[in-house]
Amino acid sequence: MYFISTRGGEKVTGAQAIVQGLAKNGGLYVPETFPSVSADELQSMAEMSYPERAAFILGKYLADDLGADYLKEACEKAYASFTTKDPIPLIKVDGEVGLYVLELFHGPTCAFKDVALQVLPYLLKKSCEVTGVKEDILILAATSGDTGKAALEGFRDVPGMKVAVFYPDEGVAKMQRLQMCIQDGNNVCVSGVKGNFDDCQRAVKRLFASEEFNAKLADKGVRLSSANSINFGRLAPQIAYYFSAYVDMLTSGQIEMGDTIDFVVPTGNFGDILAGWYAKQMGLPIRKLVCASNRNKVLTDFFAKGVYDVKRAFHRTMSPSMDILVSSNLERLLFEISGRNVELTAQRMQQLAKEKEYCITQKEKNLLDKDFYAGFASEDDTVEAMYEIFDEYGYAMDTHTGVALAVHMKYHEEKEKEDPKDDTPSVVLSTANPYKFPQDVLYALSGNDVKDSFKGIKRLNLLTAMKPPKCLLDLRYRPLRFKTVVANDLAKMSDLILRFADGEIVPVPDKE
Ligand SMILES: *Cc1c(COP(=O)(O)O)cnc(C)c1O
Repeated sequence: MYFISTRGGEKVTGAQAIVQGLAKNGGLYVPETFPSVSADELQSMAEMSYPERAAFILGKYLADDLGADYLKEACEKAYASFTTKDPIPLIKVDGEVGLYVLELFHGPTCAFKDVALQVLPYLLKKSCEVTGVKEDILILAATSGDTGKAALEGFRDVPGMKVAVFYPDEGVAKMQRLQMCIQDGNNVCVSGVKGNFDDCQRAVKRLFASEEFNAKLADKGVRLSSANSINFGRLAPQIAYYFSAYVDMLTSGQIEMGDTIDFVVPTGNFGDILAGWYAKQMGLPIRKLVCASNRNKVLTDFFAKGVYDVKRAFHRTMSPSMDILVSSNLERLLFEISGRNVELTAQRMQQLAKEKEYCITQKEKNLLDKDFYAGFASEDDTVEAMYEIFDEYGYAMDTHTGVALAVHMKYHEEKEKEDPKDDTPSVVLSTANPYKFPQDVLYALSGNDVKDSFKGIKRLNLLTAMKPPKCLLDLRYRPLRFKTVVANDLAKMSDLILRFADGEIVPVPDKE
């Protein structure tokens, strides 16, 4: 299987796509064609464990390059770090109305990014071998909270690899910041950057694009790579859980083979939901993908009007991992709906960079309408939805999942008006453990405000009787290793990374 750039010009293998991350002309790598999964294959997935299912779906794209056996071994090892017996369990909230939650947060950092980032190091390692890359790999990431920690945890102490993470100092939750700043490992570096996530992501993208910076790293025998969801190796493991959820619905008798279902996805960078759209292209019977946004509703407006417009205020919300204005992965979808028109895709991306907006045609918009429903939830809607589900079913969810649930409720109401007999089930993707955002979740479920995250954890535990994850409880007693916050300035950021590449930065814990 070959991969091509959304902006044209390149054709590479899967291993090359993973090593490169981003195409040379700034485009994203997409599969040359979508592989298909037949009904028989879907049926046979019922007998498989989650790691086997994941390896099977990954194999559709990467088996030629990385080998089916290697993928199976990689997935077995990666998902062994998850704390539940089934790494990605499907929870039935209400079978009558067809409401299910797919819990993606049982990995080592309590957020769904682990699903991909526990596997990515294996994919990258083998891809380097296959393509003959000899340099050390430096994973550079901008994070709105969860990617950074998941990348650090996935790549820590992996021989031949280093990982550096920049987070916006005005835009990650306290638990997220603590999780990153206490990170263990001898190959890690974490720093805050002044500003919000979009500023931070833009600066990191410029570092990736800087020839001078890349040349300096090359002198040190180091090569940059990306763990952001623009890397196909990050996207691919996410396709698998859509299949797995469908198969679980099938085996538990909730649906019959061929029945369609809806997926509701709390969306930021558009990686998670794009993986769902890829699953649909591969033949998974998905009716709609519901794209849920918070107050930063660029995507909701885009789906409604066909205009992607980032000229607007940026809001900080209780769902910080979705506080994003420029959703990088949308480029892959634009490429598809334009009939794989590389010139047009490149032109739109340039227009977005220069004029902060672009629009699509009516024909393209009709294609989107066929597969997507988009909505947003205010902070109040989110709190209300979280409360309602807890009150009715005793099920506690995090704030990002709360956004998805609130949008699901609007969607469901509209569907019911259209067709009262419609009984298509919905699977809401749950992207973080509620204990990761304890104060906001406690407030939503009980109206109680507490000043401190750890007090929040305690109260939430009393309220829900749900067990708090050890990795979050432990944060309280861990000394900070990383305290730097740098200016949003390319020279300062590149200087930090170059010193890290030289091995100068391996902070030791403070003795306090
Ligand atoms: C990253 C993240 C999202 C958004 O996922 P995208 O793939 O960026 O759309 C939603 N919720 C949580 C908790 C996340 O960490």
